[in-house]
Amino acid sequence: MKKSNQGETRQHNSRLILRTIYQNGEISRVDVSRSTALTRTTVSEIVAEFMAEGLVLESGLSPSTGGKPAILLRVDENARLMLAIDLAESEFRGGLVNLRGEIRHRKTLPVADLDGDAALDLVFTLVQELLAAADRPVLGIGIGTPGLMDPSGMVSQAINLNWQNLPLGELLFQKFGLPVYIANDCQVAALSEFTFGDAGSGDSLLLIKAGRGIGAGIIVGGKLIYGDNAGAGEIGHIQVLQNGETCRCGNRGCLETIVSENALVAQARRVIQEHPGTALFQRGSRPDDLSIETLLLAYQNKDPWVAALVREAAGILGSVAAHLVGALNINQIKIAGSLSRFGDALVEPVREKVQNGTLKALARHTEVGISSLGDDIVILGAASLIMKNELGLS
Ligand SMILES: [Zn+2]
Repeated sequence: MKKSNQGETRQHNSRLILRTIYQNGEISRVDVSRSTALTRTTVSEIVAEFMAEGLVLESGLSPSTGGKPAILLRVDENARLMLAIDLAESEFRGGLVNLRGEIRHRKTLPVADLDGDAALDLVFTLVQELLAAADRPVLGIGIGTPGLMDPSGMVSQAINLNWQNLPLGELLFQKFGLPVYIANDCQVAALSEFTFGDAGSGDSLLLIKAGRGIGAGIIVGGKLIYGDNAGAGEIGHIQVLQNGETCRCGNRGCLETIVSENALVAQARRVIQEHPGTALFQRGSRPDDLSIETLLLAYQNKDPWVAALVREAAGILGSVAAHLVGALNINQIKIAGSLSRFGDALVEPVREKVQNGTLKALARHTEVGISSLGDDIVILGAASLIMKNELGLS
C-alpha cells in the first residue's frame, strides 16, 4: 500500500530532525528549526514524539549569549541497539551496537569447516544468543556477508559458505520478526568507514577490503553504490594478469590471485624455494608452515623480501584503484582487512599508482590511508545499514 503524501512528508521531516540532532551532538529546538527550515511548531511536535519514544533527551542549557539560555537536545545513543553480524571471516562475529557505533556486547562462534545449512544454523544461533543479551529495544538485524546478493537479502552466491540462492533475509525475518538488512561485506565496510571512520568530510569513498579475498565498497555522493546486480565493488575478479594463476572463480590472473592472504603466502613460498637464504627461511619457517601471520611477523621484523612482495602486489592493486579514481573522481581511499596490517608497504604503492596513473587534477586531491576501524569494520557497517534504513541516521 502506498503511503499518503502527507505521511511521506511527515516521515521525511522526522528523519531530517533526528539526523540534525544526531549530527550536531547537542542542539536547541530553535537551531534545529533554523538548519532544517522547518517551523518551530513542527520541530517541537516531532521532538516531543522522539522524547516520548526515548530517542531524544533534553541534555542541558546552551551557554548564555545574553538572552534566555535554550534547552539543548541530543540523541540518546543507548536508546536502541542494532544486532550486527560479520560472516566474512573464519569465525562468525556478532555484536550489539549502540547508535554511536559502540559495541556493547559481543559474541563470536567458530565456523570451522561448516557450510550450507550448518552455517545457516550457526547464524540463527548467533542471532538468538545476541537477542537474549539485549537489554533494550533492537532496531533490526544487519549482516555483512561475502558473495553476491540482492538488496532483498537473497544471497545468490557465497562460495566460501557454499550458499546459492539462499533467501537469508527472508529466513531471518520469519524466525525473529525484526527488519533485516544484508549487503556484501566490502560494501558494508565502506558504509562503516563513511559513518563511523575518520574518512573526512568528503562525499565519496573507495574502501578496499583485502584479506581472505579482496573487494571494494564504493560511496559516491554520500550513497553506497550497489550496481545493477548489487555486485558493485567486486574488484577481486578483475583480470590483471593475462596468463596468471587460476582463481577460485575459474578465470586466470584475477586481482585476488595477487592481493589476498593466500596469494601473498603462495608468493612467499616461491621466494623461499628460490632463495633459501632469506630471513624468512632462517627463522625456521618451512614453506608449508607459512601463514599470513608469519609474513606479518617477518614484515614487522623488517624482512626485505616480505616488504618487496607486499609492495609489488600493492602496485597492482594501485593500478586498479587508479582506474576507479579516474572513472569516479573519488578523493578518499581507505584500505581495511587483515592485509591493512602491512601499513606503508601496502599504502605507498597504491598512493603512487593513483598519483601517476590518473589525471593529475583528480589525483591531487586523493588521499590513501588505512581504516582506523580494525576488525570491527563489518560489524559497525552492518549496524550503520540498520541505522540508516530504520532511522535515517548516517
Ligand atoms: Zn577470480
